[in-house]
Amino acid sequence: MTALFRQLPSTDKLLQLAQEEQLIAEFGRSAVVNCCRALLQEAREQIKSQQNPPHFFADSALLTQALRRRLTQAQQVKIQSVHNLTGTVLHTNLGRALWSEAAQNAALTAMRQNVALEYDLQEGKRSHRDHYISELLAELTGAEAACVVNNNAAAVLLMLATFAKDKEVIISRGELIEIGGAFRIPDIMAQAGCKLVEVGTTNRTHLADYRRAINENTAFLMKVHSSNYQICGFTGSVSEQELVELGQEFSVPVITDLGSGALTDLAQYHLPPEPMVQEKCRQGVDLISFSGDKLLGGPQAGIIVGKKALIAQLQAHPLKRVLRCDKVILAGLEATLRLYLQPEHLTQTLPTLNLLTAPLAQLTQHAEKIKSLLENRLGADYLVQIEAGAAQIGSGSQPLARIPSVAVTLEGKNGQKPTALFARLKALPQPVIGRIEHNKLWLDLRSAANLDTLRTTLEAL
Ligand SMILES: *Cc1c(COP(=O)(O)O)cnc(C)c1O
Repeated sequence: MTALFRQLPSTDKLLQLAQEEQLIAEFGRSAVVNCCRALLQEAREQIKSQQNPPHFFADSALLTQALRRRLTQAQQVKIQSVHNLTGTVLHTNLGRALWSEAAQNAALTAMRQNVALEYDLQEGKRSHRDHYISELLAELTGAEAACVVNNNAAAVLLMLATFAKDKEVIISRGELIEIGGAFRIPDIMAQAGCKLVEVGTTNRTHLADYRRAINENTAFLMKVHSSNYQICGFTGSVSEQELVELGQEFSVPVITDLGSGALTDLAQYHLPPEPMVQEKCRQGVDLISFSGDKLLGGPQAGIIVGKKALIAQLQAHPLKRVLRCDKVILAGLEATLRLYLQPEHLTQTLPTLNLLTAPLAQLTQHAEKIKSLLENRLGADYLVQIEAGAAQIGSGSQPLARIPSVAVTLEGKNGQKPTALFARLKALPQPVIGRIEHNKLWLDLRSAANLDTLRTTLEAL
């Protein structure tokens, strides 16, 4: 074994090889040094456990190849592009909404050039970074003003911290939600320093429950949209409209966390409806919060719209400074919102809506091409079929509603596991992410944003 160890090249020797092969010029000295050391360490361990070094230590051409492969891999951006074939259009783990062309362009401009972010061009003086978006949201929703922060979780925190610190917030027991990524209403309340007052029961809450809980220390009556679950059966809840009336009687503002929220009526596209921001404004809700990267189809952001006086207080709170968005996000959000000024074009201009409304015939056409490609590659081992899929919006919009879709499914012919094939698809240069169900791998086309490059990707199988 000692002889084997002695046969290994020194780090200096490896570095010299890397130098000759231009690896240092290409990848940088420190990366190459680290890689050489790691390779040698691996070799020593393999000698210890298997009494021989890795095969590529046999000659310098193989060794160079191994180094290059590792260096390339280490350099690969890890937040890399993937194909979303999960059937979940707004997939939080895959980055939620894709940006529209307009939003991408606006963001690029904001990255490359100085922009009038907090500068009023008419007056030539300082203005507020949410100013333009606030005007736009007022036009789109009927709200008096708006405030934009990092995400909707931050929006909820800011509303509570600004108005409800050391005070009470009344909320139904049926709405104490937890959503993915550790967002829990009771925890956010605790962080904001306010006291949660639960009323009603899990399945039924009445207006009288809220009324009984109101006292001189009540900051808000709060509604939270049950994004990722549904309570069905013998149920009852109180609408924002009713709460607004009650709130006015006692001069207590009403706030609502819509989660996804929608600025357009999804029913017109035959999609499961989601509460609309405009409607809540009309009902007189004082503050309404929703996400930028869910159904709105823009960048990650938390948007609060509502009464001018309250929004002004949010803007003035020190936490707003902590939670504010950067210029790129604001530019992308403004451009996204501008698309809503021409709602008749939204299914073309907004990628999320484009995916959700793609006709089944179009998905089937793509499915057929993908099926024949996969049959060609995998036909001996897998049965490739086109099946009706059941996609979903995702990100807590209508958790039980399914949207008709088309999927290419793959089932092992001789006991091959779908997990093995899934691993191969995930190892492609642009990984393909499907889902496993009923012992088959499902590639659902409803959520696939780039069907042309998908075929090119799959050709590498
Ligand atoms: C998604 C969601 C949130 C969190 O929104 P983020 O933008 O992800 O921070 C909060 N409340 C509800 C009801 C949600 O659905």
